[in-house]
Amino acid sequence: MLIKLLCRKDNSIFQAMQIINENGKNTVFVVDHQDRLCGVLTDGDIRRSLLSGKSLHEQVSKVIAREFKFIRQSEGEKAYLKNTDESIKIMPVVDDDMRVVDFFQFTGALHVPVAHPDLTGSEFKYLSEAFLSSWISSRGEYINMFERGFSQFCGTRYGVAVCNGTAALHLALLASGIGPGDEVIIPDLTFAATINAVLHAQATPVIVDVDKTRWCIDPAAIQSAVTRKTKAIIPVHLYGQPCDMDAVMAIAKKHRLKVIEDCAEAHGAEYGGQKVGSFGDIGCFSFFANKIVTTGEGGMCVTNSASLMEKMRLMRDHGMSKTKKYWHTVVGYNYRMTNLQAAIGVAQIERIDAILKERDNIEAQYREQLKGLDFVAFPRRDLPKSNKVVWLVSVVLTDGKRDTHMERLIARKIEVRPFFYPLSRMPIYKKYAQPCRNSRWLSARGINFPTVSWQDRNQMFRDIIQTLSTGKK
Ligand SMILES: *Cc1c(COP(=O)(O)O)cnc(C)c1O
Repeated sequence: MLIKLLCRKDNSIFQAMQIINENGKNTVFVVDHQDRLCGVLTDGDIRRSLLSGKSLHEQVSKVIAREFKFIRQSEGEKAYLKNTDESIKIMPVVDDDMRVVDFFQFTGALHVPVAHPDLTGSEFKYLSEAFLSSWISSRGEYINMFERGFSQFCGTRYGVAVCNGTAALHLALLASGIGPGDEVIIPDLTFAATINAVLHAQATPVIVDVDKTRWCIDPAAIQSAVTRKTKAIIPVHLYGQPCDMDAVMAIAKKHRLKVIEDCAEAHGAEYGGQKVGSFGDIGCFSFFANKIVTTGEGGMCVTNSASLMEKMRLMRDHGMSKTKKYWHTVVGYNYRMTNLQAAIGVAQIERIDAILKERDNIEAQYREQLKGLDFVAFPRRDLPKSNKVVWLVSVVLTDGKRDTHMERLIARKIEVRPFFYPLSRMPIYKKYAQPCRNSRWLSARGINFPTVSWQDRNQMFRDIIQTLSTGKK
C-alpha cells in the first residue's frame, strides 16, 4: 500500500494523477531520488495548479507546497495524535532520514457512536398511541403492561416502574429499611449511581474490590467487610456479566443481609439459568438511552415480595395512601415513570430476545475480527453457570497502552469509552473504600467498544484494527 502512495518529484503532474487514481487516497507523498520525503500532493493541489495555468507535463516538484505535515516515527505514538487535523486525511510517517515508512489515516467520514438505541419495532406506534390517548403522565395501560412484561421477563412476580435507575436503587434501599447507621457493601468498579443511592438513603457505603475474571464484586472481599452494622449488599452485574450469585447469596444468608441487585447493565443476563434481578430481595434496572433496554429515561425495581412491592409503590408516589387521597403515611418521593416512557418499554420487551441476540452477534464479530491482537482480552464466556449479555463490547487491553489506543480511536471518530474510574480513586468516595487492587488494574486497562447496529461494520473494524496495530510492528 505504501508503494502506491509514493511519487518521484521529477514525475509529471499527469503521472501523479495516475498514482492517485490507483491508490484511491486523493494524495501522493512526493520523494526524491534517495526516497526522502519532500512534499505531499493532493488532488486538490493538482486541480488548483492546472487552473492556474500549469500543464499536465509539469514536474510535481514545481507544484508541491513548501510546507506540509508529516509525523516522525521517532516522536513516538503521541505525535500521531498531536498532529490530528480534521482537514488532513492522510499523513506520512518518516524515519530519521526522512524516508517514508508508514502513513496514518483519519477516516473523517465514519463516526461510530458508542451506543445507539434500537427503536425499530413498535416503539413509535405505541408512543403515539399513548400520546393520542392523552394518558401522558404516570397513569395508563402501558405502565401496567410494562411492569407486568418486564418482571415476567426477569422471572419475578412484581415490577415497580420508576423514573430512572438511580431512583430504582434508592427506592429499593428505602423499602428494605436501609438508613442512617447501616452499612451497605458495594463494588469499587461501578457507575457512581450505585454509591450515590446508598448516600441518598443516608446509609454508609463500604466499597470492596472486584474479582479480576468477572469484573464484579469479589465474594471474599464482601465476607471480610461484614460488620455488625452491615445491612445489605449491592452486587452490580457489571458490563453484562453476572456476579457469582451462589457466593453472594450464601454470605447474605449467613449474615441475614438484604441483597439489592444493580442490573442496570445486564438486562437478561443469567446465573445458573436464572435471570439477574431475581436472586436478591429487589433487582434494579435502568432504561437510559444507551442501556440494553431503553425508555429514554426510566428504571424498574423487580421483586417477589408483595410487601416490598407495596412499600415501593407508596414511596414512589409521594408516600400517599392508596385508599385515602392526600393522606401521607411516609415521607415519599415522586419517582414515577410516565405512560409515554412505558409505551416505548413495552415495544422494547416485545423484541428483547432479538435485541440481546443482535448484541451477542456484534460481540462475536469483534472477537473474530480482533483475534489477531493478542493484547485484547475479551471477558470469558465459559464461566461456571454464567450466561453474560452484551451491553457495550467490553475488553481489557493488556499492553499497558489503553489511553493511547483510546485517544487514537477517538481521533478516528470511533467513540470508545474507558472503564469506570474506581470509586475509591475519587476524593468524594475515597473514605468509604477498602483496598481495591483489582478494580484499579481493570479500570486502567478496560475499554468499551461501540455496539451500534451497523449496516456495514467492515470499515469500522478496519479502522479499529489499523488504529490498534499502529506502532506495533
Ligand atoms: C446506568 C447505571 C445506573 C443508573 O441508571 P440511571 O437510569 O442513569 O439513573 C446505575 N447503576 C449502574 C451500574 C449503571 O450502569
